[in-house]
Amino acid sequence: MNQLRQATQQIRTTCCIVGGGPAGMMLGLLLARADVEVIVLEKHGDFLRDFRGDTIHPSTLELMYELGMLDEFLRLPHQEMRRVKIRFDDEEITGPDFSHLPTRCKFIALMPQWDFLNFLTARAKRYPTFRLLMNAEATDLIEEGGRVIGVRSKTEQGGLDAFADLVVAADGRSSIVRERAGMEVEDFGVPIDVLWFRVAKTAADAEPALGRIRNGKMLVTIDRGDYYQCGSIIRKGAFEEIKRRGLEAFREEIVGVAPFLRDSIGKIDDWGKVKLLTVQVNRLRQWYRPGLLFIGDAAHAMSPAGGVGINLAIQDAVAAANLLADKLRQGNCETVDLRRVQQRREWPARMTQNIQVFIHRQMFGSKSDPERAFSIPWPARALLWLLTPVLRRAAARVVGIGFRAEHIRR
Ligand SMILES: Cc1cc2nc3c(=O)[nH]c(=O)nc-3n(C[C@H](O)[C@H](O)[C@H](O)COP(=O)(O)OP(=O)(O)OC[C@H]3O[C@@H](n4cnc5c(N)ncnc54)[C@H](O)[C@@H]3O)c2cc1C
Repeated sequence: MNQLRQATQQIRTTCCIVGGGPAGMMLGLLLARADVEVIVLEKHGDFLRDFRGDTIHPSTLELMYELGMLDEFLRLPHQEMRRVKIRFDDEEITGPDFSHLPTRCKFIALMPQWDFLNFLTARAKRYPTFRLLMNAEATDLIEEGGRVIGVRSKTEQGGLDAFADLVVAADGRSSIVRERAGMEVEDFGVPIDVLWFRVAKTAADAEPALGRIRNGKMLVTIDRGDYYQCGSIIRKGAFEEIKRRGLEAFREEIVGVAPFLRDSIGKIDDWGKVKLLTVQVNRLRQWYRPGLLFIGDAAHAMSPAGGVGINLAIQDAVAAANLLADKLRQGNCETVDLRRVQQRREWPARMTQNIQVFIHRQMFGSKSDPERAFSIPWPARALLWLLTPVLRRAAARVVGIGFRAEHIRR
């Protein structure tokens, strides 16, 4: 025990961020840029991980512009999605159309999340007040008199206690900080999970579309240049049953929705190539405690519906930096300031989650019956056809910008 204690290193900073995802890295960059000493703890050794969403939204691109980084950022390899197309049986429906948005970039940039995070990291490292510790996994909070004063973590060199004026939990949907802090979570039950896998592109796809609904099944097919990032929407908890039916049946089901994948789906020859995303929609009742703030998925786990989780995480980071940077630099960041971050960001998160839950209920019902086919009820279908131009623009605004857009203040 004594030896363990001796091996524990201690450091001190102004703000310690747990988690180097979109929320944590953006906040780290913005605080460092505002002369606030900041340390980001990231449990992995790099950002090269499973698919976690590749969408950089118009609002995020606008922030890049405000930070003077847009041109450099867009030089990274990416695809540009200007409107979303869905194939419904044999009909094509145009969904959100970003061409009318009041932003410089009227498209979603599709870029691997690791490229985005590496870009933010490289920019943040230009500031002497920024430190990123990779392979540093937060394991507990350090508290004193009811206030969080630091984070306990394990690194390759041993234990590390990081003491800080403020700890920000940006450690995602399975946040350990949330658990250790005993935060109360409101869960909004989701009837679906998603199976993600990659299929090589062939010349066979004559009808590019982001999503396909056929035979009561739904498949997302994100065009990533030489492959499709596919997401098969399944009933919650149905993965074990799908595995029992076997890979052949799974492949046939996929080809049933997207026949153009027939030539390349054979490469899915191992369940290891299929990743389960357990979809959650939940939100903390309170996003802070003295000395501790939650942002991004750690504060509000989002469904992949609309692909807006990254956008919201980044908007939280910008709001937190706008509201807290000066206070942190002056050494007077109080609990009331943390409350202001929740007051600013809870409404956008709630509105977005309400829409996601509504879409789930409409399309998948509220019960997870693995045998029930997905459907779009006829009133919703009629609305899609009758109001398309209006709906397309409204949907583009919700997806591309979201509610209450944040801007870089300094
Ligand atoms: C399969 C999948 C597909 C998705 N598709 C999309 C999409 O297309 N578009 C979209 O906008 N959103 C998508 N999302 C959601 C999106 O990934 C999240 O909403 C977004 O990444 C949230 O950002 P975050 O920074 O809050 O959390 P995360 O991105 O989850 O980042 C948390 C970070 O914290 C680190 N971490 C966790 N625990 C610890 C610890 N104890 N110590 C130190 N570090 C820790 C993790 O390694 C990670 O880097 C998808 C999610 C998944 C899983």
